[in-house]
Amino acid sequence: MLGISALPISEFDLIARYFDREELKPDAAQSSRIPLGIGDDCALLEPPEGTQLALSTDTLVAGVHFLADADPGLIARRALAVNLSDLAAMGAEPLAFTLALTLPKTNEAWLESFSQGLADMVQTYRCPLIGGNISRGPLSITIQVQGSIEKGQALTRQGARPGDLVFVSGQLGAAGLATSLLINGMKLDTPDRKDLHRAYYEPQPRIALGRACVGLANAAIDISDGLLADMEHIARQSQVGVELEANKIPVAATVRTFMTNMGDPSRGLSLALTAGDDYELLLTLAPDDAVRLQELAEGINVRVTQIGQVLSGKGVRCLDKQGNEITVAGKGYRHF
Ligand code: ADP
Ligand code: MG
Repeated sequence: MLGISALPISEFDLIARYFDREELKPDAAQSSRIPLGIGDDCALLEPPEGTQLALSTDTLVAGVHFLADADPGLIARRALAVNLSDLAAMGAEPLAFTLALTLPKTNEAWLESFSQGLADMVQTYRCPLIGGNISRGPLSITIQVQGSIEKGQALTRQGARPGDLVFVSGQLGAAGLATSLLINGMKLDTPDRKDLHRAYYEPQPRIALGRACVGLANAAIDISDGLLADMEHIARQSQVGVELEANKIPVAATVRTFMTNMGDPSRGLSLALTAGDDYELLLTLAPDDAVRLQELAEGINVRVTQIGQVLSGKGVRCLDKQGNEITVAGKGYRHF
């Protein structure tokens, strides 16, 4: 409580005004699962009968994960999206989230926009805010999401089996390209960079696809560090090898265009292989289930593409049309 007393508006007023508000609360249907939200020492959750609680937390730090002067509503959207993506990767249904904020100063316009960005996501993904914390310090946002998953049915990184096919949702590389443009001081809010802007600030957590894959996929992960790096997590934890086919990898159209204009079309593929932040799902499943996956994905309007297969052995290799291995320098983003 020491630092916060220096803020011109009290911590409690801030919470009341920007976080304990109607648009962020559980709706009538959700309130049976959340008997107590913001306002007490703890929130209370009652996950549906026969489910397990899935928990995940992620911190976004200004200057590391986003630019400090970025639109606060977009920062909020992205912060919640990357957390929801972890629930999607487990096949879990969102229940609720908590939010720990550190703020350098009280800027009500910033908080208003941030709170509105959260509200949009809360409504879209039906994941209400049930508690949190505010303190003074360098701008950072920590969200913890809670979801529910049918007992024993979570999609883990451990279940891939030799013979499985590998699928990825959506398209890859756009968020990575957006990040490198931002790092180099370029703007994304121009009409020709709309897709890049959206890929970076508004990733679509694949909750519906994750739910559809429960009982179908053998292993799943969301792509936060890059396709190769995240594929390696599945390979290692499942003790299998993976062969990816370069020509099947869905490089985002906006990335292809950008790289072609730069005179370097092959760079699109290496971005798709190594750049993080796309938050698409990477799945493995038995070949017999592939048609069912395509049907389910079509039903929820999500594109899924088969990009490789699981083998016995270890390691992840990406092969070109001639069967030669493609090597890339960086295999994904690492903080340390
Ligand atoms: P305590 O001191 O018991 O941790 P606080 O006084 O910090 O509680 O917070 C009061 C209530 O407001 C708690 O229910 C807490 O979860 C909630 N809260 C605090 N900060 C936030 C926030 N940023 N977003 C949502 N709820 C918050
Ligand atoms: Mg307390």
